[in-house]
Amino acid sequence: MTDPSSRKLIIAIDGPAGAGKSTIASRLARKLGYVNLESGAMYRALALKAIEWDASFEDEAALLKMAQESRITMEPAMGGNRVLLDKRDISARIRERDVTEAASKVSVHPKVREWMVARQREMGLGGGVVMEGRDIGTKVFPDADLKIFLDADPVIREQRRMDQQRVKGAPAQAMAAELRERDRRDRTRAASPLEPAPDAVLLDSTHLSEDEVLERIEALVNGKIAARPA
Ligand code: C5P
Repeated sequence: MTDPSSRKLIIAIDGPAGAGKSTIASRLARKLGYVNLESGAMYRALALKAIEWDASFEDEAALLKMAQESRITMEPAMGGNRVLLDKRDISARIRERDVTEAASKVSVHPKVREWMVARQREMGLGGGVVMEGRDIGTKVFPDADLKIFLDADPVIREQRRMDQQRVKGAPAQAMAAELRERDRRDRTRAASPLEPAPDAVLLDSTHLSEDEVLERIEALVNGKIAARPA
């Protein structure tokens, strides 16, 4: 593979939950020597603050103020981002079920999204980044060098999540129902609904292994690198 570190691309990976974005984004970033940024972790951090401060998930103005007064940072770490909220490490807490549910609710608000998008742009602007989320190719980096929309059959996505949750001992069927509801919310919200950017490469991971997905994306990255002026 051509040395990619001299060509700092912005790579956007969007798609629904359970399609495999996080694992792929993190493996790809590691291979390229890029930074992996999980935009969802920022919505999760705000959701956690809302839970802790007992704020309503419906109150857009209060949520925006809370975001503006917070310091949410992401540091690359093995197996995902280390996420800090006001200097406190919340990396594990934000993966829990209540925060997952709340993140899906606080992310529907247009003003909250605007604030998040502005922060995410600042973080990725220099390139050398694989950013993963729902609106990276459509809103955060509409000019990204490469946009992937990673999808999979809903049944497979639910199964993958159930397998993950079973390990943690959570009720699998309830998890599947929650995933479907979060999907619905992401796809139908008025502000930046989950949809592929017109120039995104659609990749269906239903019948592909993680390695196969990664190989395909790497081939696309190499194509972009080769096409860029030295
Ligand atoms: O990707 P993750 O599951 O961590 O995201 C948590 C929630 O944040 C998602 O359910 C989605 O509603 C929201 N999100 C979003 N836009 C992004 C990333 C995440 O709306 N770019």
